[in-house]
Amino acid sequence: MNQRVQVLEHILAANQTLAEDNRKRLDTAGIFSINLMASPGAGKTSLIERTVPILAHSYRIAVVEGDIATSLDADRAAAAGAQAVQINTGGECHLDAVMLQQALKRLDLAEIDLLVVENVGNLICPASFALGTHASVLVASVPEGDDKPFKYPGMYRGVDVLIINKIDLLPYVHFDMQKFERGVQSLNPGLTTFPLSCQTGQGIAAWQTWLISRLGARG
Ligand code: MG
Ligand code: ZN
Repeated sequence: MNQRVQVLEHILAANQTLAEDNRKRLDTAGIFSINLMASPGAGKTSLIERTVPILAHSYRIAVVEGDIATSLDADRAAAAGAQAVQINTGGECHLDAVMLQQALKRLDLAEIDLLVVENVGNLICPASFALGTHASVLVASVPEGDDKPFKYPGMYRGVDVLIINKIDLLPYVHFDMQKFERGVQSLNPGLTTFPLSCQTGQGIAAWQTWLISRLGARG
């Protein structure tokens, strides 16, 4: 094994330990948490904006926003009605368990039912860094193209839920849903999938029903 691989394995092992600590803190507080991952522009923040106002009637929601430089997404999450904490990664292209640990210290965990972590827009390394959240949710979107499962297998293999956003654009872009789903099935058979549009609201209800069922099942 070369030295670079050894260093990387050491980093990932340390991250895993911290992720397990984060999970314990979340479980102790009775929080259900998701790690929202996607490429830039797929609609992670739009999904948060669609989801928070409806669930906020019944649940206390916090959003941790991972961003390279700005607080634009945290501002949007707060405007939607969530308690929002911003992590500026300083150029780092993914969140890791230390960053989430720091963010958790800034939240009153006893006052939260649902924690949404919006990861940095990137389909590669976020898949390698566990945060300690309960479910990994990948937001794909129609304009990105139907080849993404084939190009980013690590990401598609590791997630618990797939959202296919911007289905309102299907008539206007080349996106072969069957080819896309074949790719997904070959990597992650039976993956729970929600085709939806944050723009029109189509399909959002099924996603919210899933989230509510997971919130009800916790602790
Ligand atoms: Mg965003
Ligand atoms: Zn990265």
